[in-house]
Amino acid sequence: MEETAEQHLQEHGVRPTAVRILVWKTISQLKLAFTLNDVESMLPYTDRSSIFRALKLFTENQLLHEIDDGLGSCKYCLCRCEHNDHLNHVHFSCTTCGKTYCLENQTIPVVQLPEGFVMNEVEYVMKGICPTCAKKQK
Ligand SMILES: [Zn+2]
Ligand SMILES: [Zn+2]
Ligand SMILES: [Zn+2]
Repeated sequence: MEETAEQHLQEHGVRPTAVRILVWKTISQLKLAFTLNDVESMLPYTDRSSIFRALKLFTENQLLHEIDDGLGSCKYCLCRCEHNDHLNHVHFSCTTCGKTYCLENQTIPVVQLPEGFVMNEVEYVMKGICPTCAKKQK
């Protein structure tokens, strides 16, 4: 049996209020990384700051990854991490259409840090042209 949005939020320590369930149901359909503006335009009757707070809360509770798309926007993508290691994955931002793709099967290369540096987070964003835009250029 598939779990409901309420159950999924609760499992991640998020109290399922009406607005949070609505936001979660909307974003859990998305295949690409998205911005706050994207969610806002899909939920025209929901207050922007409520959407923003829900996204922040989801990020804190490891339901989402917050990413810098390399093109100047903050985006979010759904966490599909297996097990408990909530590690970010590789992203690809298209400089033509501005879409950010999750390359979840690509692990981020490990970099040897000089002594004394402690890593908390890592972001790996590639920029270039996505297959859809590449086709249009031909
Ligand atoms: Zn994750
Ligand atoms: Zn593109
Ligand atoms: Zn992603």
